[in-house]
Amino acid sequence: MRVAELLVPPDEVLLVYVHVIDHPEGRVLVDTGLTELHPAVADIDPRLVPLTEWDVDLAGIDIVINTHLHFDHCGGNHLLAGKPIYVQRRELDDARSLDDHTIREWVEAPALQSVPLDGESELLPAVRPVPTPGHTAGSQVVVVETGGRAFVIGGDMAAWSKQLVAA
Ligand SMILES: [Zn+2]
Repeated sequence: MRVAELLVPPDEVLLVYVHVIDHPEGRVLVDTGLTELHPAVADIDPRLVPLTEWDVDLAGIDIVINTHLHFDHCGGNHLLAGKPIYVQRRELDDARSLDDHTIREWVEAPALQSVPLDGESELLPAVRPVPTPGHTAGSQVVVVETGGRAFVIGGDMAAWSKQLVAA
């Protein structure tokens, strides 16, 4: 679900997505996009899809998984206070300590229930966060197995279409 657009100079548009996994044991939201503006990112002129137009009711989300904690992937975490928010420990540590990693107050809001992961795990049957250091040192993807196939949900694995062209 596309939830925002960012204008990246000189003239590129970066689309921001979140993903919902409807699992029999709980509804999972992978990344929380961007839900409000912040002066730190005003220069890229975020255009937000209003929450009322999101195709998911956040009150019905049971579990959050952040692929990483850049501001456009955790900007709605504050709306999910009290829900477990799974993120790799390295990513959480970096977001809390490195300058310019994210908008720190969006990660450190006291009501957030961040749950650090150490490597691969199976949060629900057939739903597995897997570390994929690269875009950030603590990035992870979510592997979902359903219907005999595996789907991989990533965040900023290839932000630009030109990154998908085989080298
Ligand atoms: Zn990112």
